[in-house]
Amino acid sequence: MKLSIVVPCYNEEESLPMFYSVTMKVLEGMDCSYEFVFVDDGSRDRTWAEIETLSDDDASVRGVHFSRNFGKEAALMAGLSESTGDCCVVLDCDLQHPPEKIPEMYSLWLDGYEIVEGVKSSRGQESALHRFAAHTFYSLISAATGFDMSSASDFKLLDRKAIDVLVGMQEKNAFFRALSSWIGFKTTTVTFDVQERMAGESKWSTAALTKYALRNITSFSTAPMQIVTFLGGVMLLVSVVMGIVALVQKIAGVALGGFTTVIILQLFSSSIIMISIGILGYYIARIFEEVKNRPMYIISKLCGGEKNDERPDC
Ligand code: UDP
Ligand code: MG
Repeated sequence: MKLSIVVPCYNEEESLPMFYSVTMKVLEGMDCSYEFVFVDDGSRDRTWAEIETLSDDDASVRGVHFSRNFGKEAALMAGLSESTGDCCVVLDCDLQHPPEKIPEMYSLWLDGYEIVEGVKSSRGQESALHRFAAHTFYSLISAATGFDMSSASDFKLLDRKAIDVLVGMQEKNAFFRALSSWIGFKTTTVTFDVQERMAGESKWSTAALTKYALRNITSFSTAPMQIVTFLGGVMLLVSVVMGIVALVQKIAGVALGGFTTVIILQLFSSSIIMISIGILGYYIARIFEEVKNRPMYIISKLCGGEKNDERPDC
């Protein structure tokens, strides 16, 4: 039985050696063969050099280098498709996902579970605003997917069957956390405490998180488009009421005036129309992206592993 450890890394030169040594200790205590797949997501620091050093010293380490930063989801997918193990544990490089949980996940896999989800028992240190935003996002995404995602994380063990399904998906806007629930399979959970980031900074700005949230909600749900229908209904009601009022005023011979009402209605309806077109536009943009069928990521270099000689750029 072989276990793959897939790790997305973006500007993680400080965390990487520490991550490797901590995880290595855990793996050495386990009775299975293993491999590391580090995916360098276009880092601008010495992350790739660190990965190459590790792969020179340790044959179980392989590295994938992206031509630029494609984002964590792409890095995860690349790691999964490069992995060769019978099962695969995906975890962050900053030790926020405790590697000490790997043996527990692995033994659950041996018991026959095909997906073992890491569930956050606490969210670690965050600002109140971040907590609120995360809560709103997770409520929306849980409603959209129909799975409780409130304490879901990207810390997971996946069986080869699940990996093949995920890698085979043609979706470019993949939201790993939700997709791995959506595909089903025999699933169980292990809880973990989110640790403090050991070095460097979180790569997520508020703007990046908002974009991420919008993308993932729209990739899993068409509910925002139904809002357009709802707003149309509201406008219809308003127009019926206003129409009756206008008619009554006309019949009663007091139809003059009402300029303010006209202005308010005009502005109100045009805002709704524009918002609606915006929502539709957002979905059309997503369709456009999928239809162009560009790859989710581009690999510029590989290192380590047995297939070393066959690969260019190593
Ligand atoms: N990451 C990545 N590409 C990115 C951003 C992040 O591969 O564009 C990796 C990063 O190196 C880390 C993991 O994703 O291993 C989680 O990132 P981070 O710790 O910044 O996110 P947070 O823990 O704050 O959600
Ligand atoms: Mg982190």
